[in-house]
Formats: sequence, structure tokens, C-alpha cells
Amino acid sequence: MPDHPSLARYRGMRDFGRTPEPAGGSPWPDGSGPRFVVQRHRARRLHYDLRFEIGGVLVSWAVPKGPTLDPSARRNAVHVEDHPVEYLDFEGVIPAGQYGGGDVIVWDAGTWEPHGTDDPAAAVAAGELHAEVFGHKLRGRLVLVRRERADGGKEQWLLLHKRDEHAVEGWDPEEHPLSVLTGRTNEEVAADPDRLWRSDLPAAEASVALRPPPVAPVSEEELAALDALRAGGTWDVFGRRIRVRELDEVVVPGRSGGRPVTRRELVGYAARIAPTVLPYVRGRGVELHRPAGGADDRLVRQRRLPTRVPAWLQRADVPEASGGRTITALAADEPAALVWAAASGAVEWHMWTSTTDESDVPALAVVGLRPGPRSRWADLLAVARVYRSALDHLSVRAGVLVSGDGGVEIRVPVGRGTTFDQVRVWVEQLSRAVTGVVPDLVDPDGRDPRRARLDHAADAMGRTVVVPYSPRAAAGAPVALPIGWEELDNPSLRPGGVTIRTVHDRPADRGDPFLTLLAVEQALPHLD
Ligand code: MN
Repeated sequence: MPDHPSLARYRGMRDFGRTPEPAGGSPWPDGSGPRFVVQRHRARRLHYDLRFEIGGVLVSWAVPKGPTLDPSARRNAVHVEDHPVEYLDFEGVIPAGQYGGGDVIVWDAGTWEPHGTDDPAAAVAAGELHAEVFGHKLRGRLVLVRRERADGGKEQWLLLHKRDEHAVEGWDPEEHPLSVLTGRTNEEVAADPDRLWRSDLPAAEASVALRPPPVAPVSEEELAALDALRAGGTWDVFGRRIRVRELDEVVVPGRSGGRPVTRRELVGYAARIAPTVLPYVRGRGVELHRPAGGADDRLVRQRRLPTRVPAWLQRADVPEASGGRTITALAADEPAALVWAAASGAVEWHMWTSTTDESDVPALAVVGLRPGPRSRWADLLAVARVYRSALDHLSVRAGVLVSGDGGVEIRVPVGRGTTFDQVRVWVEQLSRAVTGVVPDLVDPDGRDPRRARLDHAADAMGRTVVVPYSPRAAAGAPVALPIGWEELDNPSLRPGGVTIRTVHDRPADRGDPFLTLLAVEQALPHLD
């Protein structure tokens, strides 16, 4: 493959080390020969996986220091198991606890041709492969040589770059850290991955998209139309016509002298956040919480959808949701449903921890950390950090949420085959271990006013939890905010610090830490 017209032209136009965007969306030109990929993989140890398409699989080496153009370098390369070709364009996260758990970027990609042989599989078996690579970063002749045969263990090979016209003395792969697929670093992919690799699934299904079908955001024109309405009327948004009234009524009091929150603001927030919230509530019943009377009044839970609602609104039967009886709840399967909920007076959105098609199967285990009457926020965070260490130690994937009503919640996605009883017992065992570490900070019995408390109420059938990004009916309308685990170390983190006025584009800018959890199906490890 001496000549790749399209690739050669593309190469001539840019320095791929600096401008890694792929041609036409794919770094592999169509029909121009076997492909190769180098994935930068932060697992237990950082390494680069060099993979050549040979005979329908990816023949692979793990190179701790990475491949290089430097002809003086001799790199150790461990011959690892063949990977399915479906892995070629994988960039995302491998769940912790699975083999190779960590994050992966497509660090380089392109086509290659074997040199000096037309049977590369035989060359590998014989212990020496010469490959001419046509990548975005790597070019020229790579040589892989087996150093020693291994009985049972993994074979140690050497990787080097020939002293050819593409060789660059001193070239360091770590100075070219961006993905050729998306231009992102490993750190950026880990913070907001597009895909999850589920090695427990067949190769064709293992690359699981974490982005739900995208929902177009509310437009500036639609928001302007809401602002232009007087006290009420109809608002056309997300393709639906929604009746809004008493738009200037205060629904949540302001924060110490601040401006109170009106229904207009709440409805506008619902429209702006709906595309972010939708993945969490799809396929689940949504319970609406509304003030019984005015803005300062206590909340009442509305589990049943009222009978007089717009015909387009989807309903979900939630079996045994309420004292063993099936109820018909709101199914927020489109963004307009959340706007309707806000317009109808609901301030908070809660959801069942199971999906509507399997209401007796928990999808989440939940640890609620609640403040005591005189406990300190810093202590509550310290307790949350002990849970973080424990879950990390157990290789359990979980998310943390500042609930917006004074507490912190830890949510653990649970795979099928686990019962509510098992979840409850597991959470109790976990909490016993954690509270044993910090007995001065948390009181499992909830008697000591100076210590934080545990709330395990969500771990039973028919119970609900607050929806991520739901407004809370507290002064200033804070939101239930999913945060990154590292934010527990941030001294400026506050119990209700982010409100419907300040959350802004945070999910889009900083990533949505819960999104990756949606695709996780994990078994809860045994605890003693
Ligand atoms: Mn690897």
C-alpha cells in the first residue's frame, strides 16, 4: 500500500500530532488495506496497545512506554490476546472491576502492510513482524521481535522503529497525547466518555453507547416566547403545546433576601435541563412533589398522574408502587413532559429506583447521608469520602449526588438478578463497615444531633429517589446535583450551592458524572 491518495493529501495538509481531527470522521480510509490502531490505555498501569488487523482479528501488543518514531529506542512489548475487530475504534471507559478497567483513547490509527512477507500471521508465529504503518502519528517501518518464548505466561517482545525517512530522533509519544478520533485526552474521555466496553457481552454488542439519542435543546426563540407571555397562556416547546398559568407566582422562596423563584423561571429551567434529565427518567415512573399550598408550604407527593392531563402525555403503570397496588404515574419519555410537570405546579421530580417493566428489580442501591440537627457539613463530606474509598476498594462503580436538601447520596447501579432484599442487606453491611471507621462522624441510629445520619429508605420496592438535576423546594431552588467524586475534596462544595439559576451549562461543560452509570450492570460484591 505505497499510495493512499486521500491519506497522503490529508497528511500533506496538516501535522497530525497537532491537529488530530480525522478525515471525514474516520481515521481509517475506506477499502485501502488492513488497519492498525494504537490505543492509549490508562488501566492499573498506563500503556499503549498496538493492534494490527490480521486474519479478521486484532493481533495485539501492550507497550508500556508506547510506540515511537525514535530509531534509537527499544521498547518492551507484551504480546497479549487477540482482540475482536470491533475494538478497533473503541474509545471510552472499561468499567472498574473488569479486565483492563480504565480509560482508552484511539491514540493513533491508519492502515499498514506487512513487509517481507505476505503471511503476517505466520510472521507473528515465527516471532518477527515488519510493518509499514500509515498512521496519523506513526509512519514508517515498525519491527516487532520476540525476545523469549513463554510457557503459559505472556511473551516478551521488542518494538523498534527502523532508521528510515520517517524516523525522528527523541520522539516521545507522551508529547502527542490527543485522540486521533476525537481530539481529546484520556482525562477528558474519562470525565465524559461516549462509550463503555462491556467485555461480558459478545464483541458485536460490547461497545455500548452512553449517549442516548440526542434531544435537541430548547431554542432561544422558544425561551423568548415564554418570557413574552403575560400571566399565562400556551407555550409551544419541544413540539408540544403546554398550558401555562400564574407564571409570575412565587413557587420557591428566595434565598436570604434574594429574588424568589417564579413558576416562569421553574418552567424555563425544566425546558433547559430536560434533555439532560431525560436519560435518567426514561422507562421509569416519575413522582411529582408539589407544595400543598403556597411556596413555603410542605410538599405533597403526587404519585398518580391526574386524570385530566394532555392526551400526548405518556403514562406508566408502576405495579406495587403504593402499598402493593399498581398506580399510573407520569412517564417522562419526552422533554415536554418535564416542562408540563413544572407548569402543573410540581417543584421536585422523583423517580422509582426500578424501571416500569421490572418494578420488582432494583436498578440502584442508594446510601443517603443526612445531616443531624447540629452536625457539620464537613463531617458529612468526610463520611462520603470513606464510602468513596470503600467502593473504590471493592471496585464498585457508583456516583455521588449533592441532594440539594442538605444531604449527600451515593448511588450504585445494580445489575439484574439482584433483589431488593439483597440490595438492602448489602447497603447495611457496607454502611456498617463505613460507620465503624468514622464512628464520631456518623450515628447509624440517628440519635446524636451532632453526627450525620444514614437514610436507607430508598432500598425497598415502591420507593423513589430524587431525579438528578431536579429542582428542590428550598430557598433559591437548589438542584439535586451529580458531582464527580473528586469534588468531595473541594472545600467550596456546599449543600445547596448550585441552583436552577447557576447550574447553567455545567453538565455540558464539565460532563455529566452519572451518564456512564446508566449502562453499568454490576453485581454487588460479597461483603462480610
Ligand atoms: Mn490495554
